[in-house]
Amino acid sequence: MSDNDRATAALLLKNANVLDYLPVEMDGAPSPRVELTDLRITGDRIVERGPDLAARDGETVIDVNGRTVMPGHVNGHHHLYSTLAPGMPAPTETPRNFQEVLTHIWWKLDRALDADAVYLSAVSGAWDAMRCGTTLIVDHHSSVTAVGESLDHIERGIADVGLRGCLCYEVTDRGGPGSRDTMLDETSRYLEKIATVDNGDGVPTFRGLAGAHASFTLEDRSLEKLAEVCDKFGVGIHIHLAEGTTDREICHDRGWPDPLERLDNYGLIRPGAVLAHGVDLTPLDLQVIEDKGAWLVHNGRSNMNNGVGRAPVDRFPSRVCYGTDGLDGNMWGEMRTTFYRGNETGRGPLGFVGAERFWIGGYQLAREIFGEPFGSLDAGAPADFLICDAHQKTPLATDNWLGMMLFGFHPWDIAEVYVGGARKYRRGDPAPYDGDASRDAARRIWDGMRSM
Ligand SMILES: [Zn+2]
Repeated sequence: MSDNDRATAALLLKNANVLDYLPVEMDGAPSPRVELTDLRITGDRIVERGPDLAARDGETVIDVNGRTVMPGHVNGHHHLYSTLAPGMPAPTETPRNFQEVLTHIWWKLDRALDADAVYLSAVSGAWDAMRCGTTLIVDHHSSVTAVGESLDHIERGIADVGLRGCLCYEVTDRGGPGSRDTMLDETSRYLEKIATVDNGDGVPTFRGLAGAHASFTLEDRSLEKLAEVCDKFGVGIHIHLAEGTTDREICHDRGWPDPLERLDNYGLIRPGAVLAHGVDLTPLDLQVIEDKGAWLVHNGRSNMNNGVGRAPVDRFPSRVCYGTDGLDGNMWGEMRTTFYRGNETGRGPLGFVGAERFWIGGYQLAREIFGEPFGSLDAGAPADFLICDAHQKTPLATDNWLGMMLFGFHPWDIAEVYVGGARKYRRGDPAPYDGDASRDAARRIWDGMRSM
């Protein structure tokens, strides 16, 4: 959407069955509700909500006839760079542990990416995410031989689809200090660029964090430098923590404290920090994360796929949400798989409470990063929402919203997606990228992986 469109967008949504989760007040407690109402949208925000709103001159009126309207989903930890992984060559040896999963698979993929493939991964992955209802992606990027300006390529891919993104580069010492410094430079360059964007009264489209791979691939000096970046730009770190036992084992082998204690010693566990996975954490670790006000993102399907073990989700701290960790970007799929897995071991009602907490947590994370009241569709909130189909089989109400999210809604129920008051997708729209170019890029990076 151009600045001109943003200034002039004027829309009246009539008879919407609106589901939202949080009040528009930024510090409001979760209060999910379903209400048949009208929404007036000016620019990139909802400006009025209530029954029987009258159309004003110049407004486009859409009568949605009681169809469901809900906020776009938030993906709290994603890797758009792995979008071209499906179908890639199988590892030449079967990985025996998480370290070998990284070295035989993911660390070949991120070395094979070039700038063009980074863009195509981002645009095609963002397109997948939007068609699953996701409108805001917290991304964690790695392309170790194409680092400079890589976050601009990711940004362009997300923008060409029309979503919002919080971007970072995964700094690591895998390639030595020279390579690490290139990654730190890219981080600072992007954070400086973001800081100069004047959003005025508008909702920011992009934000940034200080990215880092994981404690076990970072030297002490790198952690110091990352803390300096966090201080300079007033942002948190976005890092994998205790994704499996590897993080702790390598720490101990090298004479370091446990990963969480090590990161905390450098001042990196602080409000705004986004910690992904947390599979191998002790009750004391979880208490430290709670006390420090950091976020812990659960990536249940990825944990299963990589065989890293089960995260202690029933003991996770208060700031939690879901992420897809490079898998399809489908937040409904992420939420319900984790719920099923909880039920499999008899957690039952706890799984239900947990599902609500982790789901709404994504909006609270987005609020903290963007300073905007995501998760609300009240006056003042960003106009980021999905319009579902008319043929919804069962009725949605305040007292069954979670059951409907877990069992009733699917990506194929999404008819339209709006971000910042502008329609970014209607079912049947063509993809905003060339499939031939994407497949060529995939073949190119797979050839590169085979030669490693
Ligand atoms: Zn990850």
